[in-house]
Amino acid sequence: MEKLAIDGGKPVRDNFLPYGRQKIDDEDIKAVIETLQSDFLTTGPKVSDFEKKINEYVGSKYCVAVSNGTAGLHMACFACGIKEGDEVIVSSMTFVASSNCVLYLGGTPVFADIDKETWNIDTEDIKRKITKKTKAIICVDYTGQPANLDEIKKIAKENNIYVIEDGAHSLGATYKGSKVGALVDFTMFSFHPVKPITTGEGGAICTNNYDMYKKMLMFRSHGITRDKNEFKETNTGMWHYEQQILGYNYRITDIQCALGMSQLNKIDEFINKRRELSKIYEEKLKKIKGITLQKQLDNTQSGRHIFVIRLDLEKFKVGREKIFESLIKENIGVNIHYKPVYLNPYYEQLGYKKGICKESEKLYNEMITIPLHTNMNEDDVMDVIKSLDKVLDYYYK
Ligand SMILES: *Cc1c(COP(=O)(O)O)cnc(C)c1O
Repeated sequence: MEKLAIDGGKPVRDNFLPYGRQKIDDEDIKAVIETLQSDFLTTGPKVSDFEKKINEYVGSKYCVAVSNGTAGLHMACFACGIKEGDEVIVSSMTFVASSNCVLYLGGTPVFADIDKETWNIDTEDIKRKITKKTKAIICVDYTGQPANLDEIKKIAKENNIYVIEDGAHSLGATYKGSKVGALVDFTMFSFHPVKPITTGEGGAICTNNYDMYKKMLMFRSHGITRDKNEFKETNTGMWHYEQQILGYNYRITDIQCALGMSQLNKIDEFINKRRELSKIYEEKLKKIKGITLQKQLDNTQSGRHIFVIRLDLEKFKVGREKIFESLIKENIGVNIHYKPVYLNPYYEQLGYKKGICKESEKLYNEMITIPLHTNMNEDDVMDVIKSLDKVLDYYYK
């Protein structure tokens, strides 16, 4: 058996392979420089051009681009009227932003468990957790595979509540042949550097609802309107604008939107690459003892944002931590997505307890995210597989 790098052996790779990374080309750089030389650095023509381009790509009617995806979730929750006393059902297997947005408005996140196989929100658990106070459901397209949107919409309709889709992983993914973005009340996308496309920081909310769109526009910029049809005051001067609600400064810049448009030109290329690499992973990893993969449904096509494997820990002499550390030492940038949100100290201090979502907790204890991004090639994928083979082989019982 080969000596592991953690024990002083030679690592599989000489250089570190990160789990995710942006891909920026000359076109992207040119687009940013041109904007820097133009009249507008922020809230110029590029913001609405970018929004239009997102609408065209996902098939939504309206889009509000914002400073980051978290701001987008906050904005959508605001548009739904979430306030103190309201409950919002949130998937537990997600980044903290998916439920922090509820707390920002004084609402109460109620965590739902995940399906054993798809690792997306379990619709049966949503039904169990709905009460008279429930105002919305925030589902997550975990790893890029769309959640069970039709069933979620059905539950929402029966209970007269909103659906907010956290699509931070799923720009370009399809559900029953349609791209996510216009399939529920709101869909959020994130343009953080590890996400499907990037603007540095950035995000967007897509919706088909005009009234919600107008509310979000105001919320993005301090709650101010400059549209005279909306003014409450009369006989005003030309300079007049009104703050009508308490909003934030969640604006995105023209510089970022120029980058976003250039990136969006390449989204299909990016996603195809992710899908090709994932296919190799699936074929090879199926054959490694002790690894289970996420079930991919026939009616979805994942955006393949991250690749998560699950370890059957009973087959190993050591725990997940040791395997994780050993892979890092082989220069494989593994990661964990995610610790169930409510296990964070802040949520524990709010009263959330271990055991609320058993499947999420079980997955969290057994998962490892392996590298997947558009700068990788087949050799990189083979390095990851080789490292997994090497490390797991060493630790089998
Ligand atoms: C990245 C991410 C967010 C937050 O997006 P930002 O643009 O970083 O604010 C929210 N939810 C999920 C699932 C994410 O992966």
